[in-house]
Amino acid sequence: MTDLLDPVSRDSAERYLRHHFQGPLVGPGDAAYDEVRAVWNAMHDRRPRLIARCTSAADVSTALRYATAAGLAVTVRGGGHNVAGTAVADGAVMIDLSLLNEVDVDPGAQTARAQGGCLLRDVDAATLAHDLVCPSGVVSHTGLGGLTLGGGYGWLARKWGLTCDHLLAAEVVLADGTIVEATEDEHAELLWGLRGGGGNLGIVTRFTLRLRPVGPVHHQTAVYPLADVPAALARYREFAEAQGPDLHATAALKQAGHQPWIPERLRGLPALFLTAAWFGDEADGPRHTAPLFATAAPDATVSRVMSYAQLQALGDHGEPHGNRYFTKSCYLTDLTDGAVAQLMESAREIRSPLSCIDFEYLRGAIGDVPDEESAFPRRDAPYICTVSAQWTDESADDENAAWSRQGTERLAPWQYGGAYVNYLQDEQPGRVAEVYGAARYERLAALKHRYDPDNVLAGNQNIPPAAHPHV
Ligand SMILES: Cc1cc2nc3c(=O)[nH]c(=O)nc-3n(C[C@H](O)[C@H](O)[C@H](O)COP(=O)(O)OP(=O)(O)OC[C@H]3O[C@@H](n4cnc5c(N)ncnc54)[C@H](O)[C@@H]3O)c2cc1C
Repeated sequence: MTDLLDPVSRDSAERYLRHHFQGPLVGPGDAAYDEVRAVWNAMHDRRPRLIARCTSAADVSTALRYATAAGLAVTVRGGGHNVAGTAVADGAVMIDLSLLNEVDVDPGAQTARAQGGCLLRDVDAATLAHDLVCPSGVVSHTGLGGLTLGGGYGWLARKWGLTCDHLLAAEVVLADGTIVEATEDEHAELLWGLRGGGGNLGIVTRFTLRLRPVGPVHHQTAVYPLADVPAALARYREFAEAQGPDLHATAALKQAGHQPWIPERLRGLPALFLTAAWFGDEADGPRHTAPLFATAAPDATVSRVMSYAQLQALGDHGEPHGNRYFTKSCYLTDLTDGAVAQLMESAREIRSPLSCIDFEYLRGAIGDVPDEESAFPRRDAPYICTVSAQWTDESADDENAAWSRQGTERLAPWQYGGAYVNYLQDEQPGRVAEVYGAARYERLAALKHRYDPDNVLAGNQNIPPAAHPHV
């Protein structure tokens, strides 16, 4: 493991790699190349020099040491879902974690150890066998790695907190190839940074996660024509801000589809979908979700009890691999009439039937975690709004990106500041610093200086190492 610590020629780096690396190595000439270089967002059609399909932490270490010795840039692929496509870069070594997808559950301790390339559904499948779950995102083919390291919002965030709040420990391959375990006792500052600091500080090959009990979910969705949006969202605002932690209510503006429960007159038109999910006692569900829909009567509503696994798969088909995506996201202070009018304007101007404006009230347990306990910023943000353009035709790239960009720009008067790091795409210089805020950014840059002084892990929402770290 030490023969590459000094600069060596690319030839000996290659020999080192071939000798030590256990998993498949895939290059441009290989049949699997196009499949394994592809990421979720087809906007990022990039050609890495080599894809190292790691089968262990030692493989990750070998691939990192090889890339450094050979003078090649590195990217890290978890689930490949990042909208900015940070998992893949032209000419780089892609450290592909997707074969590292095992999960061990300790039901007694209510913890799971999940390898760094797991998808959310890998973790759910293992933990739900014990009626336990780690709160995570809402689309089951998202990667646990990127989601956890950037934060992790989902259905249970108001009840239990973010995914990164459930990170108890992590096995990490540092930029120099060293493998460490970050816990509350060892490398505690690194663990702090992994809870929200993104992929800057190391490559996590195993996440130790706290689990929570979960049962059936009462789920109700309703659809409203655009004309009824002001009244329906006034009710949403009142309801969502008063809800207890067992409830989570979301809103989406998009073109109504052709599902049987959607009235024919709304199909193909921009419409509002409100959803309330209840995570308390099953029998109490209807009593708690119904008030969301009581004041502004919806055109149609569908209500059902489902398993948590079904809930987690609900969003899967709507955001498939291989389409083109552009996302802009912001936090909002409030859902005022003015903000609602702007959201409706974006809904009217939607460019693609696949696009969507999602927004929801956050708070609950997210804001209960003391701010200094993690690198995750802006826990107290009231609302998040994400304007996601999705389309298939490359010639429509510009108009869809412009629609998404304008969708958040026109919300400027109500923006809370910052943004969710995992939704950043095509940003201005300095945006990452703004997202974290000065003190947090400085602390992360100091950590970066300690754990990755040469910025080997730069294929991310990058925090360069501090020149003169104080921490
Ligand atoms: C359809 C869809 C739904 C989503 N839903 C949600 C949601 O409900 N809640 C939410 O919070 N977010 C959500 N997201 C955003 C998601 O959190 C980010 O896209 C995240 O980056 C995905 O992680 P990944 O591992 O799949 O991504 P990748 O593209 O594989 O990785 C992104 C970056 O994360 C880092 N990374 C990934 N794995 C590791 C690792 N093991 N060690 C070190 N660094 C690593 C690397 O820097 C990498 O460049 C969603 C995204 C999509 C596309």
